[in-house]
Amino acid sequence: MPVKIALVGRPNVGKSTLFNRLVGKRLALVDDTPGVTRDRREGDAKLGDLTFIAVDTPGLEEAPEAALEGRMRKQTDAAVAEAAACLFLIDARAGVTPLDQTFASLLRASGKPVILLANKAEGNAGDAGFYDAYALGVGDPIAISAEHGEGMAELYNALDPFL
Ligand code: GDP
Ligand code: MG
Repeated sequence: MPVKIALVGRPNVGKSTLFNRLVGKRLALVDDTPGVTRDRREGDAKLGDLTFIAVDTPGLEEAPEAALEGRMRKQTDAAVAEAAACLFLIDARAGVTPLDQTFASLLRASGKPVILLANKAEGNAGDAGFYDAYALGVGDPIAISAEHGEGMAELYNALDPFL
């Protein structure tokens, strides 16, 4: 059975954009409005010669206190549980937020391998957020731009051991 890789993180960090880039089909809804991806979406992903099943997860709720509750929390938990490894995205332009910390805790507790992606890093706009990301305690960040396809070689190297 193909390996599943879950895309996890708070709303608006670019999970669905990365999913669409990897899957190459418009399966996941991408929107500026946080929380638009309400259900897990799976697709056959390709990165160079690597193949896997990418699992997009919901954006959760806007309010941090409600963010990890209910159905969408369950969807994230289920995706993480089934995954061989998780791609944990943050918005490098926005820097590390309390909700990012919550996701980092959730992922550490899961015991799954985590690949930390500092997204929206095109043009060095995410430099500050990139260095902040070390404090999440889930390993060294990789700077990427899901929108512009930057950092994909580094992502390839990080994913390779799990596939
Ligand atoms: P999700 O809620 O985590 O699934 O985030 P989306 O994929 O829906 O993206 C949220 C917003 O961030 C959209 O407006 C995207 O166009 C934008 N976005 C995603 N990736 C990048 C990126 O690499 N750079 C920039 N500048 N914007 C991005
Ligand atoms: Mg989404």
